[in-house]
Order: sequence, then C-alpha cells, then structure tokens
Amino acid sequence: MNNVFVYCEIEEGQVADVSLELLTKGRKLADDLKCELETIVIGHELKGVEKQVMPFGVDKVWVADDKRLYPYTTLPHTSILVKLFEEEKPQIALMGATSIGRDLGPRVSSALHSGLTADCTSLVIGDHEDKKNKKEYKDLLYQIRPAFGGNIVATIINPDCRPQMATVREGVMKKEIVSDAYKGKVKNIDVEKYVKPEDFVIKVIERHMEKSKVNIKNAGIIVAGGYGVGSKANFNLLTELAEVIGGEVGASRAAVDAGFASHERQIGQTGVTVRPKLYIACGISGQIQHTAGMEESAMVIAINTDKNAPINAFADYVITGDIAEVLPKMIKQYKEN
Ligand code: FAD
Repeated sequence: MNNVFVYCEIEEGQVADVSLELLTKGRKLADDLKCELETIVIGHELKGVEKQVMPFGVDKVWVADDKRLYPYTTLPHTSILVKLFEEEKPQIALMGATSIGRDLGPRVSSALHSGLTADCTSLVIGDHEDKKNKKEYKDLLYQIRPAFGGNIVATIINPDCRPQMATVREGVMKKEIVSDAYKGKVKNIDVEKYVKPEDFVIKVIERHMEKSKVNIKNAGIIVAGGYGVGSKANFNLLTELAEVIGGEVGASRAAVDAGFASHERQIGQTGVTVRPKLYIACGISGQIQHTAGMEESAMVIAINTDKNAPINAFADYVITGDIAEVLPKMIKQYKEN
C-alpha cells in the first residue's frame, strides 16, 4: 500500500522518454518516502517491456496486455487505472503531460475524487502546517508549476485526497538508469476483470503518424531565434549556422507567431523543454516563458542589440550586436576552423 506509481506510455513497443523521466523522479520520491516504485504499462505485445523500465529502479511492473488496448483509447485505459489505484491505493500517481496524459489524468483523478495538478515542472516531498485547522501533514507531494502566464511559480499540495496526482511536462526531468541489474516483480493484469464491454465503443480504424523531422528535444546544440531575427528569410542565417556546427534550429514563441519558424521548434513554457550543451539565443529577449524551456542549457551565448536584455542574465557569453552582422561572421569563422 501507498507506493509511488508511474503510468508508462508506450508507442510501437517503446516506452516514451517522458515516462522514463518520470520513473527516474518516481524512484527518488519513493526513496524519500521509503516506499516502493511501481509502474503500469497498458498496450499490446508487451512481452519483455519490463526490461525497458526495471533499470530505472522499478520494484513492480503491472502489465495489461490485450490487442484491444493498443492504440490508446480513453475508456479502457481509464477503467484499468481506476480499478488498479482503488486496489493498490498509491500515495502518488504520475503521468506525462502528453496528449495521452492530459486526456487520461483528469478522467482517472475525477473518478477517484483525488484532484490533479497538470503540467508540473518539479516535484518534491515536503511537510505542511494547516494553521487554521491546527493540522500537520508530513511527506506531501509538492506539485510545482508555472501559473498566471508563467509570472509566478505555484506550489500545489493535496493534503487529504489520495493518490496525489500530477502530469509532468516532457523533458523537464532527467532520465537516469539506476542499474541494469535492477530486479523488480512483474504482475500481469487480468484485463477482463478490469474493463467493461462498453469501454470498447471506440474503434480505431486507421492511424496516420506524422514523424517529425525536427529533433530539438535531444539536440546537443541549438541555434534559437526570436522576434529580433526580423523575418523568415533572416532565419536562414540561423539554419546555416546550425548546419555548420551540427545543431538544430529553435525559436521563441514570438518568432513562431510571426511565422518565422514552425511551431514544433518553439522552446519554452508552451513549447519544448531543452537542455543542450550549447544554446545560441539570437534576437531573443529572455522572457520567463522562454527561459523556462532552456535554462538548463549547459552553455548559453546570447546575441542581442540590447545590452540589457534579460537573456543576458542566463548567458555565459554575451555578444551585443545585430544578428545580421554577427551571424555571418560566426558562420565564416566556424567554416574556416
Ligand atoms: P521579443 O521579446 O520581442 O524580443 C526580441 C529581442 O530581439 C529583443 O531583446 C531585442 O533587443 C532583440 N533584437 C531586435 N532586433 C535585433 C537584431 N537585429 N539583432 C539582435 N537582437 C535583436 N515565449 C516563448 O518563447 N516560448 C513559450 O513557450 C512561451 N509561452 C508563453 C505562454 C504564455 C501563457 C504567455 C503569456 C507567453 C508565452 N511566451 C512564450 C511569450 C513570451 O512571454 C515572450 O513574449 C516571447 O518569449 C518573446 O519572444 P522574443 O524574445 O523572440 O521577442
């Protein structure tokens, strides 16, 4: 009873990165709470899936394997999670803030009357004193997320309902293997006992998967452009620099909204979270909603005409100048060396 649970998403036999990130966080939370880490994988042809998750320090893997459970549809996944959580009574249940997690999380939490904090960027264990009702709570999950358009960071707690549920943004937590030799238990779920016939009213007839060619999430070098780049044509300078140094092109929301770059390149609170070795910010002012998605970069170079631009506070190197002058010089230098 009262363990930490992570719902693992699966796509074409592979556990999603966000789920592995959550298992890493879940292991730390379970250690802090001195309890076990459990995970549930729902889908089809899941033989051997435990080998993907065990190295992250999982003590028990629940597997619901049935051909009707892949691809994902809301109702059977909800029924399985609700029943499992009613039986196992986890104190914490986590899932990715993906399109699946955003669909599934609220349904499960409302069926369990537990509440849910969406889009968390950090999770820690802490105590709470309710002075009004003279109550003290130990070992609560602090669910931390930006609020009011990113202007504040809110810490949300759920003292009385269980499980404490949260969805967590992709890429904000690190993925770390505990040990390749980590051994947990595997428990197969008898799907028939967990689902109802009416859960299968929705039939997926055909799926079209659009595979993105853009991979900024895992890029080691990112050349990101903002509104200050000025035009779509000027973005070609960023593409050229990125090609020369083996990086990907990213963008601020203002640049995406202006049509300079596609949405899949957007970095920040409502875009992708990245942590490259090198982040070159070109014509980006550095508003909190943008820096929320890149502040973990190992090294930042900021190029901006404004020597007081907020991005400079995050930068290891600041180049005060016009990108139209600075970028061609950088491209030339890198090409020569
Ligand atoms: P600006 O703030 O306009 O900055 C342009 C910069 O370019 C300035 O610093 C200027 O000095 C510099 N500049 C101008 N000309 C040149 C030149 N020739 N050479 C060099 N520098 C030059 N933003 C995001 O990026 N990602 C998000 O995910 C995101 N989510 C949001 C969510 C919400 C709910 C809200 C309310 C906002 C969000 N935003 C997000 C928007 C964010 O608040 C800022 O508006 C946006 O990041 C600004 O983008 P920018 O820095 O490109 O543009």
